[in-house]
Amino acid sequence: LFEITILGSSGAIPAYGRYPSCQFIQVANKYFLIDCGEGAQMQMSRFQVPFHKIQRIFISHLHGDHVLGLMGLLFSMHLQKRSADLHLHAFKGLDEIIIAHLKYSHSALNFTIVFHTTQEGTMETIFEDDTITVETIPLYHRIACSGFLIKEKPKPRRINKNKLPPTILLQQIIALKEGRDILDDAGNIIYKNDALTLPPPPSLSYAYCSDTAFNLEIAKQIEGVNLLYHEATFMQEEKKKALETFHSTTADAAHIAIQSNAKALLIGHFSARYRDLDLVLKETQEIFPNTSLAIEGQTFKIEA
Ligand SMILES: [Zn+2]
Ligand SMILES: [Zn+2]
Repeated sequence: LFEITILGSSGAIPAYGRYPSCQFIQVANKYFLIDCGEGAQMQMSRFQVPFHKIQRIFISHLHGDHVLGLMGLLFSMHLQKRSADLHLHAFKGLDEIIIAHLKYSHSALNFTIVFHTTQEGTMETIFEDDTITVETIPLYHRIACSGFLIKEKPKPRRINKNKLPPTILLQQIIALKEGRDILDDAGNIIYKNDALTLPPPPSLSYAYCSDTAFNLEIAKQIEGVNLLYHEATFMQEEKKKALETFHSTTADAAHIAIQSNAKALLIGHFSARYRDLDLVLKETQEIFPNTSLAIEGQTFKIEA
């Protein structure tokens, strides 16, 4: 299972019922939040997102529309008697903000926040376990900003049950899944791997890129991504405004999708000037047809 639920899709100012940036990610048995704009916890209860399950929060940058929901969420986790550690990945400074807030409200959380400092301007792997990696994507914004690339690791080969000899041993099946041939004591091949196995299921990936000016370096890092979320704050007629504010247009997002060979594109971080998003979607689809709008409450399943 690899799913993205949109909790916020608005740019700097919440508008027309749209909330600032926040996404809930479920991948296998892991639960992540990316960005935590104002109202994030209200959106979580509205869409029945199990926020007590969140293990890690990844914050792209310290602009308010990406972090102002965090303190509220932390206090609610505290009131719900959370005891598990919460891992927080962000640029330096967010730790100081949280500490100051706790200090002046005379509060002590009953769980530990493990703060991981994101490095500026360089790609790094910030989380890894048996099944996935999370790496930062350097973005191009007015302050230090990074996206996140969540990638499944290569999966084991699948056993072709129709071809399996009845005498095969369990440890031989394990070896086959790892891609090895089965040898006898003399080192001769008894079973050739590709005769008994099928290729592994594809490893899926998700890239989150917000906020950023257009930059092709992003496309290089996320080559072949299954689902790309790229901000599209403005339509093309506001290209000048996008350049000035280090944001992207619909066409910028679409071109990053093309250049990275993304299978699908999700756009968001919409400017408050657009009440209706139909034209925003249409303009992007003219360049990259397989585009969807990030709409609050919608869940996008990542599939091969
Ligand atoms: Zn923003
Ligand atoms: Zn920003």
